[in-house]
Amino acid sequence: MKTDDWNHRTEESEDFSASIHQRTEELYRIQDSEPDQEGCIELPVLCLRDIVVFPRMISPVFITPGPNLLAIQEAQFNFQTVIAVVQQDPDIEEPSSDDFLPIGVELAVGRLLNMPDGNNSALVQGRRRVELIEFTQQEPFLRARARVIVEPVDVDRHTEALMRTTRDLFEKCVQLDRSLPDEAHLFSINITEPGWLADMVTTAISLPFKERQSLLVLMDPKERLKRVNWLLAQELDVLQLEDEIQTRVQSEVDRSQREFYLREQMKAIQTELGEGDIWSREIAELRQKIEKTDLPDEARDTALKEVDRLVQMPPMAPEVGIIRTYLDWILDLPWMNETEDNLDVIHAAQVLEQYHYGLGKAKDRILEYIAVRSLKPRKPRQPILCFVGPPGTGKTSLGRSIAEALGRKFVRLSLGGVRDEAEIRGHRRTYIGALPGRILQTMRRAGTINPLFMLDEIDKLGADFRGDPSAALLEVLDPEQNFAFSDHYLELAYDLSKVMFITTANSLGTIPPALLDRMELLEFPGYIEEEKVEIARRFLIPRQLEESGLEAAEVRLQDAALSKIIREYTYEAGVRNLEREIGRMLRKTARLKSEKRVFPVNLTPKSVEKYLGPPQFFETEAEREDEVGVATAIAWTENGGDIMPVEVLILEGKGNLQITGQIGDVMQESAQAALSYLKSRSHELDINSEIYERLDVHIHIPEGSIPKDGPSAGITMATALISAFTERATYKDVGMTGEITLRGKVLPIGGVREKVLAAHRAGLKTVLLPARNLKDLIDVPKKVLDEVKIIPVKHMDEVLQVALHPAVQKPEKPAKQAKE
Ligand code: ADP
Repeated sequence: MKTDDWNHRTEESEDFSASIHQRTEELYRIQDSEPDQEGCIELPVLCLRDIVVFPRMISPVFITPGPNLLAIQEAQFNFQTVIAVVQQDPDIEEPSSDDFLPIGVELAVGRLLNMPDGNNSALVQGRRRVELIEFTQQEPFLRARARVIVEPVDVDRHTEALMRTTRDLFEKCVQLDRSLPDEAHLFSINITEPGWLADMVTTAISLPFKERQSLLVLMDPKERLKRVNWLLAQELDVLQLEDEIQTRVQSEVDRSQREFYLREQMKAIQTELGEGDIWSREIAELRQKIEKTDLPDEARDTALKEVDRLVQMPPMAPEVGIIRTYLDWILDLPWMNETEDNLDVIHAAQVLEQYHYGLGKAKDRILEYIAVRSLKPRKPRQPILCFVGPPGTGKTSLGRSIAEALGRKFVRLSLGGVRDEAEIRGHRRTYIGALPGRILQTMRRAGTINPLFMLDEIDKLGADFRGDPSAALLEVLDPEQNFAFSDHYLELAYDLSKVMFITTANSLGTIPPALLDRMELLEFPGYIEEEKVEIARRFLIPRQLEESGLEAAEVRLQDAALSKIIREYTYEAGVRNLEREIGRMLRKTARLKSEKRVFPVNLTPKSVEKYLGPPQFFETEAEREDEVGVATAIAWTENGGDIMPVEVLILEGKGNLQITGQIGDVMQESAQAALSYLKSRSHELDINSEIYERLDVHIHIPEGSIPKDGPSAGITMATALISAFTERATYKDVGMTGEITLRGKVLPIGGVREKVLAAHRAGLKTVLLPARNLKDLIDVPKKVLDEVKIIPVKHMDEVLQVALHPAVQKPEKPAKQAKE
């Protein structure tokens, strides 16, 4: 390979490169000048303004008419080389002899070519460095005397290493720099002299003029190579960075090109399959549907905007599904569709009566509500009704009947366990799989904008870190706000103001106060046995007969059988389980009938046991003996009232009090208060007060699986404690409820009706009730009051008088018990 062929890399045409080839041949034929005895040569001078030609390198130079041209012509005439000197400052127009670098290069100059612009160009080849000594001629062109510099060519180990790194770095540069031909690296491998290698690399890579100048004058080859090495490393850095940027840009470009290409292809395929048409037809249909549907302006505009977005997308784009679901929601929700209310109060009364027994208060309130609406149709602000009561007391079914009476659609939404605001209000559409909240989902089910909307179990609403759903619910129920309810998914104002909301709850304690404030409470307190029998006769049995495919004339449930089911198979305030058990009885009969077997027409208490198995609840209180250390509390639970025995045990110990049976904080404190009261009354009760130190007291309230709380067991705990310490037994059929103060006063409690009914259900004969609760008895059916003796109490003394067996006159007893 010719060592300097690569220098012509930019010349592309074949003819031209052939001519270049010839011209380089010419250059080689030119001999270097013979130095004189002092090692000097004297030659015409070529002034280079802004380029440096290094020894052995070939480069074209442009020659303007003037001294430079004359110098070259002179040299060619004499078959000579020239001395190229480099201007220190390229900006100087007419340099004097001091303006040149002290080091120049002897050049061989090829044939002159005339350029179209009147200038000349020639190929030149550097031969060796020379040190300028003096200019020997000024006119008509410069001539100079210079000493030929002979570079050492030997290579020590250090230099060898340096040369290798240079080659490596250079190779990397060649790979990255597109303007360098691949042969450039090969060429560098063949160079064996350090100075030459440095000059070659200097010529190849892009360097500022100043840098080239300093490399020209750096005469020690090793130093020059070092410097070149450093410059190469720099260059490599820049090249790598450039490359990185380029790759990144390239990959961006590639991707978008690819996408474009694929999209075009997809379009072509769709057109081929006729799908493009289907898509545009679908979009047109969608648009038409939106325009035809009765929507508020905002909803229609939004929907049409979404359709516009769809048009821009290919049918397979993932966003398409999201937008279509959204549009479906807008189209499916009721916006304007409204049923007309039937505000005929007499008709409403008939409907309510037709489906429900009793519930007088609730029915009256509803009829008032309808009456007000019929007189003042525009009055928007009616209170939200909240039906409160144990399960199975007819809250839902009454709601359903109200809807029927009004001619409204009926929908229910259970709030039990809803803890996240998003469940009420939905998730933003940016979430994957987002949907509207439950309110709008239920509205879609209703299909009209004014249904009767029952929000069940509002007392079971939770709240946690995901936000408070009750806040969202407040907005739903607030007539000031609910005409523009905001759902995160829909992002459109939705009008809930025409909805009739009714909420239900089992207990009031857990309803968020802000919500409670908005609502008017209607109590559904639970039924006594006679009411249950009536409901069963009128509603439950006919319904269950129908469900099991039997005729009314075919079977009869005796009253005694019904009572047995109520007492021994269902222990509840409502009638839900009763209906279920009746259903079971009738299904068994239906089966016998369908098997063509004999079945009893009269269902007796015996048949109850046969069909339903052994009784599940016993009348435990009646069976119990009068005992020491046990008293009967009447409590209020979510399922209505219930009775709970409170047991006290005294053990040897250190005066500790232990309470078990899933007891809440308030009840714990109430137990402490009861104990303190007992201690304060030791003297009157004939108890040796020293013994407390030596005893532990354990209070237990069985049925530990049911959490219990509240202050209303206060007097019962005190009674059980006193019974235990005085060894006076309690009467088994006396139940009690009431809060106790440290001084033994009895304070009023809530849930009186449920509690009295529960006592009645459990067969208690006497109920001790705080005197201030007497007024609440107005809600208790007369029959119950006839059968249960209610004794109002103000102080613990009165409680003890009724609840405890009389004291036996044994003054030593308490102390003795302590010793035992
Ligand atoms: P809740 O919503 O209070 O839990 P439901 O409304 O579901 O109770 O009532 C349970 C069943 O008892 C229903 O079949 C209902 O018709 C019936 N029911 C409850 N109370 C009455 C009543 N006063 N008159 C007629 N049926 C009743």
